[in-house]
Amino acid sequence: MSTATIAPPAVSQTKNLINGKWVDAASGETFETYNPATGEVIANVAKGGKADVDAAVKAAQKAFASWSVTSNRQRGRLLHKLADLVEENAAELAGLEVLNNGKPIAEVMAADIPLVVSTYRYYAEWADKIYGETIPVDVPGFFCYTKKEPVGVAGQIIPWNFPLLMQAWKWAPCLAAGCVSILKPAEQTPLSALRVGELAMEAGIPAGVVQIVNGFGETGAALVEHPGVDKIAFTGHYETAQHIMAGAAKTLKRVTFELGGKSPNVVFADADLDQAVAGAMTGIFFNQGEVCCAGSRLLIEASVHDEFVAKFKAAAESHTVGDPFDPNTRQGAQISQEQFDKILSYIDIGKKEATCVTGGERSGDKGWFVKPTIFTGVNNDMRIAQEEIFGPVVSVIPFKDFDDAAKQANQTIYGLASAVWTRDIGKAHALADKIRAGTVWVNCYNTFDAAAPFGGYKFSGQGRECGRDGLNNYTETKTVWVNTAY
Ligand code: ADP
Repeated sequence: MSTATIAPPAVSQTKNLINGKWVDAASGETFETYNPATGEVIANVAKGGKADVDAAVKAAQKAFASWSVTSNRQRGRLLHKLADLVEENAAELAGLEVLNNGKPIAEVMAADIPLVVSTYRYYAEWADKIYGETIPVDVPGFFCYTKKEPVGVAGQIIPWNFPLLMQAWKWAPCLAAGCVSILKPAEQTPLSALRVGELAMEAGIPAGVVQIVNGFGETGAALVEHPGVDKIAFTGHYETAQHIMAGAAKTLKRVTFELGGKSPNVVFADADLDQAVAGAMTGIFFNQGEVCCAGSRLLIEASVHDEFVAKFKAAAESHTVGDPFDPNTRQGAQISQEQFDKILSYIDIGKKEATCVTGGERSGDKGWFVKPTIFTGVNNDMRIAQEEIFGPVVSVIPFKDFDDAAKQANQTIYGLASAVWTRDIGKAHALADKIRAGTVWVNCYNTFDAAAPFGGYKFSGQGRECGRDGLNNYTETKTVWVNTAY
């Protein structure tokens, strides 16, 4: 589909989805949602609270009783149907995503939408392939086997940077495994999730199997605290995860977290520098730098540092920032005034600590656009090298040799992703072994597939999404012992 023809679509849904019905918040309250490219209000959305979460949990428990015993293949068929509907409505969904998030239409059509569709399809195919094992126990006369059973009601709390994709990463494995979901979209970006909720109803997914309660952090907290919710799946900041973990402790809920990062993108002198520059561009400027696995620490071998920086600066200065609906735009608007201010304040900190070689200011005079920004002379101890900025700001850090690269790569509280650029395959594998992170990209950056596990070490998370690992978050293992001599 040509991105040239996609215009901002009409907003079709702003309510909560509870028990198969679109309803206002029990309190009647709403909140405004914005277009980051203009700062204008797009719509008022139902603001769910405790009472709405309570109603959703009741419906979810009822739905779980039948969904968990629905034929596996039927669950798979319904997920396939949802994938088909997302694909058929791709232009509208992409338009809503751009309107509400500010990301460029070309990227949504090339990356977000295909990944969303393939995630629903991938897990649709898993639905009838989730099974246990027979265990050769060393106990004569006994037969032992395991079953994989659905965990139950999942509270799924997602962020604003990839709204459609985060919804798919949460809903697809959850439903394939026989669990039911209460989704809490980010308050900044509810619109595309609500449209997919409508498509889920159109696909015939039964009432209560997927529900959506809009709202802020306190609505998420109501899900975390609710005794009727069995599991929380969360993507967002680690500080929020700390609150969630503490809140979930009261009812000993299962939790999985996909959190932030300060990912090292390591370029050795023997790399193809032009490809490494292209990788560095994707690594930090894709999605306006609002990516948990952004390559925000660019570690460059000292002998090629100046040559690399010159090429990288030229590439950053030719990066098109602007109207996200323009198909030629490569970098859109930051999500909110708050995020925009935070990025600019980190840029100020960076200017005191290091050298800003390009960018370092807003782009245009309306909306929340920031110029691609590169800092050099960065030392790995500096704040701009240690704290997640979540914007188009990269710290270039020189390293001496392999050991220094490995050491600096791991000098972070995070461990989400990393990359290594080199023509020496042995060196690439050796560094992949050393880096404590959930993903290592070799001579590439930001490659994703529904089948490839994604998640973090250390402060970057717990558990993995995508792939078979993503299903484990939604199943319990039951071990059955049979006394065959009985
Ligand atoms: P950000 O600051 O980028 O919005 P957050 O981690 O605060 O990142 O938000 C990610 C998601 O977590 C959002 O849906 C948000 O509403 C939700 N959230 C924020 N605070 C809490 C909380 N205390 N408990 C549960 N969910 C929360």
